[in-house]
Amino acid sequence: MAISQKISELAVAGVQGLVAYQPGKPVSELQRELGLARISKLASNENPLGPSPAVLSAIDTAAQEITRYPDGSGFSLKRVLAEHCRVTPEQITLGNGSNELLELVARTFLQPGLAALFSRHAFAVYPLVTQAVGADAIVVPAKEYGHDLNAMRAALTNRTRVVFIANPNNPTGTWLAPDSLAEFIGSLPASVICVLDEAYYEYQPEKLRAQSVGWLIKYPNLLITRTFSKAYGLAGLRVGYSLSSPTLAELLNRVRQPFNVNSLALAAAEAALADEAHLQRSVQVNQQGMRQLEQGFAELGLRWLPSTANFISVRVGDNAAELYQQLLANGVIVRPVANYQMPDYLRVSIGTCEENSHFLSVLRQLLKP
Ligand code: PMP
Repeated sequence: MAISQKISELAVAGVQGLVAYQPGKPVSELQRELGLARISKLASNENPLGPSPAVLSAIDTAAQEITRYPDGSGFSLKRVLAEHCRVTPEQITLGNGSNELLELVARTFLQPGLAALFSRHAFAVYPLVTQAVGADAIVVPAKEYGHDLNAMRAALTNRTRVVFIANPNNPTGTWLAPDSLAEFIGSLPASVICVLDEAYYEYQPEKLRAQSVGWLIKYPNLLITRTFSKAYGLAGLRVGYSLSSPTLAELLNRVRQPFNVNSLALAAAEAALADEAHLQRSVQVNQQGMRQLEQGFAELGLRWLPSTANFISVRVGDNAAELYQQLLANGVIVRPVANYQMPDYLRVSIGTCEENSHFLSVLRQLLKP
């Protein structure tokens, strides 16, 4: 038996069956492979405007101090976030991206014999963190690609300890009506932790947004996750946060690494929160880009899933995998979503007007009869 095979067998059962998360292809990798001058990366739901200039200067200042450990309690960022979200600092947990918070929830509340419940086509990290700790995943069929809350409620068992909800969901872009969501959360047994993943919250039109923070008072089992990776443009720094009851936050704090968010990220996130104008510009560019892509798809006779996030999944048919490769060869990186049981779709992040035009013109050429 090869040594590497023996080592594989040492991994715990959940990890043996895991397939690692597939990130979007980095621009530098495509550049290395094809040497293309123009590349549009529309694959990882990043902010095409980049961070606010105030963030860059906050990073410069913080860089002077990188010989020191970061503030492990994130005191300053939590204070500003608490004011921003109208909660107390004790209700906030900071994470190395909101992904880390999802993982902390799994490590805190799941183990073999318990289960996490989520929708089909839901964000890939939910099954990953569930399986990694040896818990079972209950995957509930979706309704028109979105979460079917009635079916989710019906699928709860007495072993269900965590429910993950993405609103809006990645990669479908689907969202839930605030009333139905409130009713669903209210109907959960107190023994079930409800993770409401709002990674794309800032992009949602105000009238469609759930006032979820207000629900925290009533539901000590609710945890809302948000991130600086998307609308705030800080994906590379890895900083996200959760809002919950202080008791839930204190449990997550027990398993969190003491310095999980680095000092540049802490400073950058604080500066990003202060630049409301940049956030508004980012949201506006996203709305315009969404219309641009929808119009382009309509002209090509393609169907798409309406989205309130900063990406859109478009139905391109059976040859989605081939089309993805052809787009790559022409300098456009999008995301195949076959791993989400959506083999006939491609997910496209909203870029700048130029990036969107680049994508649409390459797509047009490739689909030309
Ligand atoms: N939740 C959802 C629904 C996402 O799409 C993402 C990013 N792909 C995340 C959480 C995690 O993002 P981050 O760790 O960068 O905050």
